[in-house]
Amino acid sequence: MRFDDIIIGAGHNGLTTAAYLARAGRRVLVLERSDHVGGAAVSAMPFPGMPARLSRYSYLVSLLPREIITDLDLDIRLIRRRYSSYTPVPGDPTTGILVDNGDPHATEASFRRVTGDDSAFTAWRSFYDRMGTIAARVFPTMTEPLRSAADLHDLVSGGDSTEAELWEILTSKPLGELLDHYFDDDLVRGIVATDALIGTFADIGEASLRANICFLYHLIGGGTGDWDVPVGGMGSVSGALYASAMSAGAHICTGIDIVGIDPADGTVEYTDPDSTTTTVHAEMLYAACAPTVVDRYLTEPIATETDPRGAQLKINLLLDRLPRLPGESIPPEAAFAGTFHINESASQLHTAWQQARRGQVPDLPPCEVYCHTLSDRSILGPELDGHHSLTLFGLHMPPEVFDAPGAVDHAVGATLASVSSVLAEPIQSLISHDAAGNPCIEVKTPQDLDDQIGLPGGNIFHRSLQWPWAETESDVGAWGVETSHPRLLICGAGARRGGGVSGIPGRNAAAKVLAG
Ligand SMILES: Cc1cc2nc3c(=O)[nH]c(=O)nc-3n(C[C@H](O)[C@H](O)[C@H](O)COP(=O)(O)OP(=O)(O)OC[C@H]3O[C@@H](n4cnc5c(N)ncnc54)[C@H](O)[C@@H]3O)c2cc1C
Repeated sequence: MRFDDIIIGAGHNGLTTAAYLARAGRRVLVLERSDHVGGAAVSAMPFPGMPARLSRYSYLVSLLPREIITDLDLDIRLIRRRYSSYTPVPGDPTTGILVDNGDPHATEASFRRVTGDDSAFTAWRSFYDRMGTIAARVFPTMTEPLRSAADLHDLVSGGDSTEAELWEILTSKPLGELLDHYFDDDLVRGIVATDALIGTFADIGEASLRANICFLYHLIGGGTGDWDVPVGGMGSVSGALYASAMSAGAHICTGIDIVGIDPADGTVEYTDPDSTTTTVHAEMLYAACAPTVVDRYLTEPIATETDPRGAQLKINLLLDRLPRLPGESIPPEAAFAGTFHINESASQLHTAWQQARRGQVPDLPPCEVYCHTLSDRSILGPELDGHHSLTLFGLHMPPEVFDAPGAVDHAVGATLASVSSVLAEPIQSLISHDAAGNPCIEVKTPQDLDDQIGLPGGNIFHRSLQWPWAETESDVGAWGVETSHPRLLICGAGARRGGGVSGIPGRNAAAKVLAG
């Protein structure tokens, strides 16, 4: 059988590529290993008898450009969060820093209460104003052919020396130096630093600048850096992309096993669920799964990073009600509606990173939680009135800390204890129970992510994120999706400008082919 395009993997990026190409009239086949589409952007009902449809892995949307929603007629609704974050003071959780986008005066007062004067808030505002200008200039380039580093520098600085200076430090010095320059307060530095460490096992002081790249991606989304709530959960995002691809005529097969890939002649051989082996051909092939996964079938590899690893513990919880906070200084409805940072001061992050690097579960795991149901209750059935979902993302948990027998239970126990350390009551006492009487808690280690969705070493971005510009002269004008095989493109998170729920590499791979 002949197609124009064969896409391996039906995560949200594979579906994006399929939708663009099928809408352009091409014959598209998508081959997915799992029995469902969506990859890391799915919803699931993990607790038997409980009508709670949770975003199983990814949960917030920032990097998905408006133009993709419009181009593909996607039925996706995103809610802007009023509260961006709450951070209790470790050691004195009766108080904390609330970043309230609806009330800048409340935010200012909260910084003053915790840090003792106005300097931290002034620095915060100045830093994020400048980052906002940079975001607004960088984000539109994510769906253009790659610029050179010098060209992007000129665009970002826009002739303004303050933006130019911030961009130069951000792209050349360890992030820790930048944060030290702006912020004196350990807790404030930590709140800022967490954006550099989501999915990236790094110390903000390290020279590799991996944390800086991760930081940039977390701040540029939509040109504002806002992280929005997808109504209906993350499954609704992939669902909309699936509907767009299917209505345009794409063929999507699930439950398949790839047997062989030959990018020289565009051949893919696969076995379907009833054990029939089929050979298909196409003009173009696309890796929508991680490059290291495709390399298993190639003689000339496409992955430029051979051992990508993740470093997070994901926990989904269903609660009977929201937890109370000590001192009741702020209502839980405000604290949990944004990102609730737990034991994430800069020094706590550094200690946890050092312990994890030695292969230990951190004593006080830094983590963040967020409550989807405060923004959108459509994911719960009416029987669960009063209940809430809580999604937890634990940092500095690389695969090796889970190797020892009992390590997963130990890591989960330490993480829940870390959460309880800033609450007025143990989080365990609020966890709902399913129809069989089991606690409603779902845990995903990096090993689980590798086994279940093929994220190499549990790396949530398929590989380390890369700067959003051409790093060699010959890449200027390319799309960041090319490989050494002319007929094989990377259209998933492993492309340059991939990572996160963005559809950007999926769209860029299609743009390259449709541009001819
Ligand atoms: C726990 C967690 C939390 C996250 N939180 C966020 C968040 O809140 N916001 C955000 O923007 N990003 C978040 N991310 C990152 C984001 O989800 C991913 O970077 C993004 O979904 C990757 O999309 P993709 O389509 O490129 O690849 P994937 O979603 O990884 O999809 C790849 C697909 O390929 C399939 N596949 C794998 N191997 C094969 C094979 N051999 N043959 C055929 N098919 C195969 C997989 O089954 C999968 O369906 C999170 C990720 C995780 C894991």
